[in-house]
Amino acid sequence: MKTQYLSYQDTIDFLTEAMAKYPDLIRLQSIGETHEGRPIMMVTVSQDVAYADLKPALLYTGTIHAREWIGIELAVNFIQYLLDNYPSNPDVVEALTRNTLYMVPCLNPDGFEYSRNHFSFWRKNRRDNGDGSFGVDLNRNFGVNFRHSTNTQSNIYGGPAAFSEPETQAIKQFVEAHDNIRIALDYHSQGNVFFPAHKFNHEAEIEGTDLNILCANMAREIHKVTKRQYGIHRGKPPANLIHGSGREYYYDRGILSSVVEVGSRNIPDYLINMSQSVDENIPALLYALGSAINYSDLAPKRPENFTVSAVSANRVDLVWDHNSEDEGCYYQVYRNESPKDPCTRDNLIAITSQNQYSDKQLKSGKRYFYNLRKVNRVNRIKSPFAPEIRIKTALEKDEFAYTLFPAVEKIGYVGEFTKPNNADHFGHNSLFIGVNKTKGVCYGVIDYDVSRLPADAMIKDAVFSLYPMNRVGAKIENYGEWSVSILNPDDISDITNFDQIQQAVPLQTLGDAIDSDQLTQGIWKSWHFSAVEKQMIQAQLEKGRLLLRLQGPDTLPPGNDSQMMQFDIGYGRFGGGIHYRPSLDLIYHRRPYQMAFGATACHTVSTEGMTANVLHSGFDSSGRRILGHVGFTLPTLSEQTDIVITDAYFVLECEALHKIAQPMRFTVEMIDTEAPDLDSIRGGERIEFLGYEVSSQELAKSPRQTFMFDSSARQTLEDLHDQGKPVNLVIRATSASRQQDAVVEWKSGVGEGEISPQLVVEYIERRKQPLDKPENLNVSLEGGLVKLTWDNPDNSDWVGTYVVRNSFHPPRSPFDGVKLYAGKDDYTFDRFGNANMPKFYSVFSYDNVPNYSVPATIKFSSDEVTSVIYDEFEPQDEVEKRYREGD
Ligand SMILES: [Zn+2]
Repeated sequence: MKTQYLSYQDTIDFLTEAMAKYPDLIRLQSIGETHEGRPIMMVTVSQDVAYADLKPALLYTGTIHAREWIGIELAVNFIQYLLDNYPSNPDVVEALTRNTLYMVPCLNPDGFEYSRNHFSFWRKNRRDNGDGSFGVDLNRNFGVNFRHSTNTQSNIYGGPAAFSEPETQAIKQFVEAHDNIRIALDYHSQGNVFFPAHKFNHEAEIEGTDLNILCANMAREIHKVTKRQYGIHRGKPPANLIHGSGREYYYDRGILSSVVEVGSRNIPDYLINMSQSVDENIPALLYALGSAINYSDLAPKRPENFTVSAVSANRVDLVWDHNSEDEGCYYQVYRNESPKDPCTRDNLIAITSQNQYSDKQLKSGKRYFYNLRKVNRVNRIKSPFAPEIRIKTALEKDEFAYTLFPAVEKIGYVGEFTKPNNADHFGHNSLFIGVNKTKGVCYGVIDYDVSRLPADAMIKDAVFSLYPMNRVGAKIENYGEWSVSILNPDDISDITNFDQIQQAVPLQTLGDAIDSDQLTQGIWKSWHFSAVEKQMIQAQLEKGRLLLRLQGPDTLPPGNDSQMMQFDIGYGRFGGGIHYRPSLDLIYHRRPYQMAFGATACHTVSTEGMTANVLHSGFDSSGRRILGHVGFTLPTLSEQTDIVITDAYFVLECEALHKIAQPMRFTVEMIDTEAPDLDSIRGGERIEFLGYEVSSQELAKSPRQTFMFDSSARQTLEDLHDQGKPVNLVIRATSASRQQDAVVEWKSGVGEGEISPQLVVEYIERRKQPLDKPENLNVSLEGGLVKLTWDNPDNSDWVGTYVVRNSFHPPRSPFDGVKLYAGKDDYTFDRFGNANMPKFYSVFSYDNVPNYSVPATIKFSSDEVTSVIYDEFEPQDEVEKRYREGD
């Protein structure tokens, strides 16, 4: 297994040879010496390498943990790739012309050699701790958030002092001497995930969007090669995960910084897994190298005040500041449908020099994510990204939405070997789903209460979303899949009972199961319900419950101990908060009421005047037009609330055709008049045509005809209803040739039992306008927490108030930031933020549609210094504990 891998000396020899061959491209130097006297080699690659330090740079560090061999392997292979592709590949040439690569293939040479020759799973360096133990975890020895410990035996022992080790000293001195470093990537194994750096301030950072997009774009390059999905996970910073790590040290110096956890084993099968890991990461690295310049002093400044000025069902208006220094730049606008998606050509929706953009043709009730940056017209250098904007489009007039979250006692996991404790998992532990040696097979259970949905709801769209927070237990490549099933609640008397959950026969398993290499932490996973699956939800509405079972693989191949994913429940001390709760997003229609109205007025209008209760249209003996008029009086359709007309049509029936020799056509027009008279019928303003004209031949075949209202005509009808005005229709004949004495006689509705002419209206009861916004929004500091208070609107349609926080701009959409609260209270605390950082809060009132009001917005900042409480990381099981302790 090990012989295919390079030794440290092999690596030095390779680099020395490469430098001899390409002296203008490669520089090799030692930046320090280890405890055992090995040189710490730094290789610099850049076109005209003598000037390398003058260009923006990517810093690559590998194998800081001895057993994580991907670092050194990827480094050597990437350099070989650059040499093979320079100067033939223009992307490589451009990357190396404008940027510099600083690479430490192995930051822990002593430990690496020890791992190769003595103990595969060695992690630390080889310091003699003087007490019989050896080694310092170099990735706990950096100076940011360094923690003193005397537990020298520990795999995460950070050393006697920050930067006590020659390896960390060497990289520190190098970084301090090279301000041109703009991106730092530290390569580890395992997990197939990016861990971007933290600033420990419990708050979104201005560089957060850049970090996510850099990682997402790298993940996109990886996906192109192997279709493997890498995760991007920041989460809240549990304190003992990130003491003294290199990643935070670089980030603290203003460098975009991430750990890249590659593969699913430290020392995998070389020919299959390691070569895949290497090959998939090379284009991602090239992308990162080429991006360093975009974060340098040569780049345009980040766009400011990127926000949204209006959101409707199908359109979003985006605005931002355009400063005079931006002359010579244009803007790129990107749109995504999930968070942490890449920004590439594929989702670039606009290039503009304006300071606004309107994105149209969006879908209603759907989330969208927008990103913006500047590009210099001449040299094409790009700016960092403005903080991301998140919105949800409004609903169409006939739509309702409901987002379901499980109650705290209705979400949990059941394990095969944890039967006595399964009930305790509910509302407390993350969802462990899959199989491992200590818990056995584990299922997630979510029991949604759907009783608050109206019984006549017709599900248009259903999406179930889950947040994978950890995949340390999912270790086997390409093994197993995770899926969601709907269970019959009548089969289960106790949702915490493993046997009942395991033995239940699903009513339906959702179509899209997710393979192990596609399920990745930090990236929301969504299941979209198909038509059949939506019917299944519909069927569950009567029972008032939707019971979901989540399952993963239930067997392990020999030699493996775990294939387990962990998902956030959004409750309790292990959860990330309300923002991360598994949700079921439903958009639904309601079954409309149907009403049919007979005409309240009927006239025939000719040169002779108006004749009541007779309905003719055609041409008189002089060829002049005869018009039919029909009037309807609509009653108030709802005493409760607004109505929305979802469908309407006009029914007209032909009684007789008189002397029609040439073809004629008949149109129905809605006219704008309250009291129809000769003038308004003959010459009044036409506000809308209904449906398509019918011909005399069609009438001869089928006398009864239906004229459909289109969306614009329905809107007019609705407006007339709302204003209490009558509906007036004119039936007009047209002909291509001159007609005389040609008349259609329509049924006039005068006789008993006649059903024509008739207006049929389908409608639902639904508020159209949002409520008033909450008043008297106030912010204060109480016990170290930001407290918001407000007055809810006094309106019987008010359902609740929604609170959102954004660190960069006042949120104008309830979804543009971190959700803090939704409900009926008139106050909330911000339990997730840092009171020392200024920020914006918006509160929105909503009704049962929901329509969201315009927000009440407040800026918070405080001079009072509040201590931020860092949660100590608390493991939920053995595997998690061992992983955090570096085993
Ligand atoms: Zn590591």
